[in-house]
Amino acid sequence: MKADFAMLINGRQVIGTEQGFDVLNPATESVIVNCNAASAEQLNDAVAAAQTAFKRWQYSSDAERKQALHRIADSIEAHAETLATLVVQEQGKPMFLAQAEVGGAVAWTRYAAELDIPVEVVEDSEHKRIEVHHKPLGVVGSITPWNWPLMIAIWHIMPALRAGNTIVCKPSSLTPLSTLKLFELMNEQLPAGVVNIVLGSSVIGDLMTEHTGISKVIFTGSTPVGQKIMRNASSNLKRLTLELGGNDAGIVLPDANIEKIAEAIFQTAFLNMGQTCAALKRLYVHDSLYDGLCKKLVEIAQAQTLGDGLEAGTTFGPVQNKKQLQYVEALVNDAREQGAKVLCGGKAVEGNGYFYPPTIVSEISDGVRLVDEEQFGPVLPVIRYSDIEDVIDRANASAEGLGGSVWSSNLEQAQQIAQRLECGTAWVNGHAEVLPHAPFGGCKMSGFGVEFGLAGLLEYTQSQTININK
Ligand code: NAD
Repeated sequence: MKADFAMLINGRQVIGTEQGFDVLNPATESVIVNCNAASAEQLNDAVAAAQTAFKRWQYSSDAERKQALHRIADSIEAHAETLATLVVQEQGKPMFLAQAEVGGAVAWTRYAAELDIPVEVVEDSEHKRIEVHHKPLGVVGSITPWNWPLMIAIWHIMPALRAGNTIVCKPSSLTPLSTLKLFELMNEQLPAGVVNIVLGSSVIGDLMTEHTGISKVIFTGSTPVGQKIMRNASSNLKRLTLELGGNDAGIVLPDANIEKIAEAIFQTAFLNMGQTCAALKRLYVHDSLYDGLCKKLVEIAQAQTLGDGLEAGTTFGPVQNKKQLQYVEALVNDAREQGAKVLCGGKAVEGNGYFYPPTIVSEISDGVRLVDEEQFGPVLPVIRYSDIEDVIDRANASAEGLGGSVWSSNLEQAQQIAQRLECGTAWVNGHAEVLPHAPFGGCKMSGFGVEFGLAGLLEYTQSQTININK
């Protein structure tokens, strides 16, 4: 029988045999569906299926893999409405953002399909030829978070498949449904066992990251879990890509045009209700522009329409889960107690759903939790500065280093400052923009390794040097 939301192991739908958990709609707090977690045996079955499938898939031709990925992209397009609706229901974002997530899924899949894996010839002399090849690693374990569930699964899976690996994925228990549907669609286009998906929480996560049948783990999520994964991965020296938390600073220089940048600052700070790894999370504004920019940001925040993402006209959805909502509330309350000014928002909406309006907090500085910690929610602290060297130091005084930005009318000066930011991506007059061809990843405690572009593809390979004596 075909279940609506089953796991997929070796090409077959399977219901987990461990404890069940509810998947909630964050806009209504109603239960969408109850899922069961996988047992350790079911995880072993998934890994074994992926290992068996790898024996053949690793030798599939480039043409076969490219065609398979394009067929998957076609299928995602054909099921775009179903997928977008699932994303809204489980994640909470407004429909236009969910549609953008599905559109991104198609674009990234097609981009990965078209990438070519290079063979480098480092010597070709009379007596010798040396080539460097990039071979797939084996079974890749993908562990995803709850903020962009479909998009992040695609980011993990498509380059891994393109490079010839097979997959065992574990989505967040908070948002597994769009990923389960994706796997059902991918399975229709791929040999059995190439893609497998299991459900569960940290118990299955730990078993995956310790599993010696998995050669690499790609993880997107919080820094503490990333640290745990790194410890577990030592079991078989798993390769890792860790895309972890960030506390991105944006610096507005005195020559910036606030009329031009205010909307972009708002949208990149509050993207997905602020639940985006590389959202702008600390905004440093020069004294001369401070009051004017705060005022503009408040106007934009107050023009948002909060509501269920399925309702027409909604521009701002709920926080995805109660724990995150309570964390955001605690950070804002603490800031208030420390003397910061809450210019708008600042209180959860009463009634059903985890709604928290977009909140702008001013007269706040480093040393307050809302500035020092990643809020990962709909609140932006705006911090006053007067000295540029000092603000660069303050932007860099974070354990994390995912992204950063500089906002200015002087592109040359802005670029010079951007290059001094300690982060994986520094934007000028923008933030949080990710593209299939631009490598993206963190430094410091935001993780290591990159996704996207050829550099991202090669993370799913190991090099092999072929040394031929003629
Ligand atoms: P999380 O770390 O709590 O969970 C992420 C995933 O890890 C989930 O699937 C979860 O079930 C699983 N997990 C939990 N414990 C585990 C364990 N011991 N072993 C293996 N897996 C385990 O993160 P979250 O709350 O879902 O996501 C929010 C965080 O993710 C934020 O810090 C955010 O910045 C970060 N994030 C980073 C990026 C990036 O690209 N750098 C992108 C999105 C989110």
